[in-house]
Amino acid sequence: MKYLVTDDSKLARLSLIKSLKIHVGDAEIYQATNGAEAVEIVKNNKPDIVFLDLTMPVMDGYEALPLMIEEHPKIKVVVVSADVQEQAKTRVINLGAQFHVQKPINSDKIKEILKIL
Ligand SMILES: [Mg+2]
Repeated sequence: MKYLVTDDSKLARLSLIKSLKIHVGDAEIYQATNGAEAVEIVKNNKPDIVFLDLTMPVMDGYEALPLMIEEHPKIKVVVVSADVQEQAKTRVINLGAQFHVQKPINSDKIKEILKIL
């Protein structure tokens, strides 16, 4: 399995990767700092699971999400965002995300999600 962690905050990225590594060990984990980079990585490396922030410069998560699915229809996208309004949740699910989880995401939550995906 290959993973992609997308967040413009370095701290958020590294913290998520640290938690993810507890469960996936030496799996390949790519990083992107905005939606445009993420779409490029999806195109070139076809990760299986993406953790996606919404608010990012250059291209936000809402815009990147359908482009990722277009590049790699089997991809599973977990939106990790501080925006927990129903409207934001509904929007990302409608765009094709598997989950919308509140930021920050911890190791237990990651374990739970990986089990369901
Ligand atoms: Mg952000």
